[in-house]
Amino acid sequence: MTRSTIYRPEHDEFRTLVRSFLEREVVPRFPEWEKQGLVPHDFYLAVGELGFFGLRAPEEFGGSDLGQRSFLYSSIWTEECSRAGVSLGGAATHVNLVMPYILALGTAEQKQRWIPPMVEGRLMGSIAMSEPETGSDLAGMKTRARREGDRWILDGAKTFITGGINADLIVVVARTSDHDNRRDGLSLFVVEGTAAGFARGRNLEKIGLKATDTAELFFESVELRDDALLGEEGKAFSYLAQNLVQERLGIALGAQVSAETALEITVDYVTQRKAFGQPVSSFQNTKFQLATCRLEIAAGRALIDLYMLSHERGELTAVEASMAKVYCTELQNRVIDVCLQLHGGYGFMSDYRIGKMYTDARISRIYGGTNEVQRGIIAKSLGL
Ligand SMILES: Cc1cc2nc3c(=O)[nH]c(=O)nc-3n(C[C@H](O)[C@H](O)[C@H](O)COP(=O)(O)OP(=O)(O)OC[C@H]3O[C@@H](n4cnc5c(N)ncnc54)[C@H](O)[C@@H]3O)c2cc1C
Repeated sequence: MTRSTIYRPEHDEFRTLVRSFLEREVVPRFPEWEKQGLVPHDFYLAVGELGFFGLRAPEEFGGSDLGQRSFLYSSIWTEECSRAGVSLGGAATHVNLVMPYILALGTAEQKQRWIPPMVEGRLMGSIAMSEPETGSDLAGMKTRARREGDRWILDGAKTFITGGINADLIVVVARTSDHDNRRDGLSLFVVEGTAAGFARGRNLEKIGLKATDTAELFFESVELRDDALLGEEGKAFSYLAQNLVQERLGIALGAQVSAETALEITVDYVTQRKAFGQPVSSFQNTKFQLATCRLEIAAGRALIDLYMLSHERGELTAVEASMAKVYCTELQNRVIDVCLQLHGGYGFMSDYRIGKMYTDARISRIYGGTNEVQRGIIAKSLGL
């Protein structure tokens, strides 16, 4: 119903492959994963075999070497998962956030050690920024790493970490020095899941995204070698700012597709469902509500297409990524709310897809930086 104008024939072939993989391998297993609260770690080997994790990585590490062009391919995964109503747990974080950090900042030795097994899906990665007492105000974090001889000693706790139960490698943000500007003095460390002093809390119970593991992580005097430091000491804030562009655009895209899917499902439903002897679709209210959804969705698609092409060229700014995130996630929440209402009582039933979409959608205005934080970024670009 909603056309995207940015994909080329090679993308269409890839989409067919992804769609059939999801239909065959994921859709039938998904209800079980939702009950278990995670995607079994072994399953990531099958995803790796399909090449999803290697899109960006250079050939020498087993990847397809698409670099920045990999974004449109991984967007196809985002779109197809959203359409099929499934997710691959922490896989998107692994491929869209963690691997780009290591590829961009890692030394030759670090890349050689971690990227090939990450491409295969043997090692899965998470990114740990948020803490129990601070999420939006990242610079206020308490997790610290101090030097002791040729080692770093890491202490602290993180929470809400996507993929945190399955993760074998965690990119942890920690304070390494204090400065007047609190954004200075944060560093990135790669902590392996087997490190002594590292522990996982429980798989947190959420109101949505049931098949994604989300965990608390604890670091108690974790000893790290110098080569656990990723990039330069003290520079994490600027690294995070660069990578959050892709994260926010990815969230915006997932939200946009979920709004498009909700509309399709609902047009179908209101055409079948009868009230007062006529289809629900025949009421003027239904038509106007869904027409409004459609035109807002069209505007969202135009924005996201424009920004995706811009990101593929490496030109998307942080402010634009924030605008896409706010626009598309709020669109998603509005549209799904209207669509659920048009389902009547069935919309509130767990076995109707729209109900699940409603609870899954709520997080998109919160994670990746809340929409209030995004509005702050946008306001700053106005000089306010
Ligand atoms: C399912 C899920 C997955 C997540 N995955 C990850 C992950 O993989 N890695 C990770 O590091 N984090 C992750 N997070 C954490 C997420 O990014 C944070 O929850 C989010 O950034 C908000 O932080 P907070 O929860 O501490 O809320 P708070 O910062 O306490 O915010 C509370 C409220 O205050 C508002 N607020 C805060 N500051 C301002 C301000 N300056 N102006 C106006 N309003 C403000 C916020 O918008 C919000 O409405 C995840 C969270 C969830 C729920």
